[in-house]
Amino acid sequence: KYKFLVAGVNTKVPLKNKKMVNYINFDNAATTPPFMSVLKEILSFSNWYSSIHRGKGYKSQLSSDLYDESREIVANFVGADINDKEIIYVKNATEAINMLSNILRKDNSNSVVLSTCMEHHSNDLPWRKGNIDYVKIDDLGRLDLNDLEQKLIKYDGDVKLVTVTGVSNVTGYKNPIHKIAKIAHKYNSKILVDGAQLVPHTKVNMKSVNSPDHIDYLVFSAHKMYAPFGSGVLIGPKSTFQKNGPDYVGGGTVDIVTPETVIWADPPDKDEAGTPNLMGVIALTKAIKTLSLINMKNLEKYEDNLLHYAMRSMKHIPDIKIYGDTDNIKDRTSIVPFNIEGISHEAVAKMLSAEYGIGVRNGCFCAQPYIQNLLNVSKEEIKEKMLIPNSPKPGMVRVSFGIYNDFNEIDVLIKALYKLVNNKQYYIDKYEDKNAIHRC
Ligand code: PMP
Repeated sequence: KYKFLVAGVNTKVPLKNKKMVNYINFDNAATTPPFMSVLKEILSFSNWYSSIHRGKGYKSQLSSDLYDESREIVANFVGADINDKEIIYVKNATEAINMLSNILRKDNSNSVVLSTCMEHHSNDLPWRKGNIDYVKIDDLGRLDLNDLEQKLIKYDGDVKLVTVTGVSNVTGYKNPIHKIAKIAHKYNSKILVDGAQLVPHTKVNMKSVNSPDHIDYLVFSAHKMYAPFGSGVLIGPKSTFQKNGPDYVGGGTVDIVTPETVIWADPPDKDEAGTPNLMGVIALTKAIKTLSLINMKNLEKYEDNLLHYAMRSMKHIPDIKIYGDTDNIKDRTSIVPFNIEGISHEAVAKMLSAEYGIGVRNGCFCAQPYIQNLLNVSKEEIKEKMLIPNSPKPGMVRVSFGIYNDFNEIDVLIKALYKLVNNKQYYIDKYEDKNAIHRC
């Protein structure tokens, strides 16, 4: 019943044998297609298209009001207390994390940021500009909360931020963010949740700052939640943004400029340099309204059913290795990462596309350290093989679901994978490229 909520569901693509089939998109962890409601909103809002916070014309005023009011819609969607939190629009989750890392480094240059071994590069590399350490994971790739607490004790109050993904973009593990928040707060630290994969799949509640398990900072991207590319959100305590001048300066960031003096505007304007992405925000707001109409609890239940259905069947495919815990999957969502023994992730992805019109992603999903961990790649192996330019990298195939996927599509995937393992040599000869450089 959710199928026709998104654009492009009936798009036909050519197979290698020239037959046209319905495209099956199992790459939603990368980007989701836009909701039809979002596209309609963009079209109808185009009549009101104008620059905001500048003109006094009717359209400009109306656009400015909608842009400013949208912050409350975003805040409500993730349970952020608008009296305590600033809602800052950015380009995407990556920009949000970089921005926060730059801001926090100004005040806490000697402190430690505790990240984890399961992060996307976007929630790892920005923190490497300062002192960083990583919370360990267990053999099945789950976060080790004991290690989190041990590290907080070890750094004895120097950890000012624990940063963790809400949902892993590799294994789909849902981290216990409120439990982590409670532990972090106990040691006087704050918590950032990378919500890029969390917000599209689960009801998020940042909670009031008076709750011991509240979330201090949250980031997410519109293009993973059925709106177009180019808008994202950084949410954090107002006090974080009040202190210093912005990194990006220019139009919109200032109250007063004289040849000698600059007086910055208040946040969020101060931190949204240049003409804001009004259309991106209108689209994101509509996506949020549509997700709320579906109801995030319904969405979660449906996507859990998809995951259970896929896991149950995929587990029994000969020669398949599914990563992470496959017996107890209640703390996983919408992602199945796997390999087929004897054939590369690249060749499997190519075969699924060329023979069945199924779009999946393969490689390291911008989470190379986590992948190396899950695949047990040794430090020596990394040094000897991976650090050589253009060497093939270890990786996986990733199937990731969205609300509009259905059980029939999973059946096609299962059929394709059986075909592949039962005729492995044939497909190796056809799709394996011995010189391939697997991009991650
Ligand atoms: N964090 C996670 C967990 C992600 O999956 C992604 C996107 N793959 C990002 C951060 C970065 O998102 P964006 O590319 O939209 O900045």
